Amino acid sequence: MAARVRALETILTQKGLIDPAAIDVIVDTYETKVGPRNGARVVAKAWSDPAFADWLRRDATAAIVSLGYGGRQGEHMQAVFNSSDTHNMVVCTLCSCYPWSVLGLPPVWYKAPPYRSRAVIDPRSVLAEFGVELPADKAVRVWDSTAELRYLVIPERPAGTEGWDEERLAALVTRDSMIGTGLAREPEAT
Ligand code: FE
Repeated sequence: MAARVRALETILTQKGLIDPAAIDVIVDTYETKVGPRNGARVVAKAWSDPAFADWLRRDATAAIVSLGYGGRQGEHMQAVFNSSDTHNMVVCTLCSCYPWSVLGLPPVWYKAPPYRSRAVIDPRSVLAEFGVELPADKAVRVWDSTAELRYLVIPERPAGTEGWDEERLAALVTRDSMIGTGLAREPEAT
């Protein structure tokens, strides 16, 4: 794969279609500046501010941009809220569409064929392998990302966090909890 990417970059550069320096800036931005902490701040604000949570339900793209997180792979966002009766989980069965603007670069397993196929065929066993055991009566809803729409899971707020400020709450929000392959940390874990 690395050789194929290198070959493609060489051809595009030689044809004058891309500037390697610009590509380096983009890669560096997503490797070092944009990561899952952006999404964690979105979740913490949704937990703390009902008006923001409501905005996130109605127009996640605009609500997220209002916090300064926009751009590539985040142009069309939908927030899906976990609840006591439903757990949400995100996959891209076709390739690896992922909300870069809030979660950074996708983990390797997210791009792997086994996750992409099994997440839709048998989500509960995939969740179990991630250490997530859900009650049998809790529904699992799997969302298939596309080039047009990216999903952000809003995990349930852990009990025992009443009165916590957004910064403390954000520390409970893991990357996997926003993909739906994990849950938010319990307060005693921090
Ligand atoms: Fe995709």
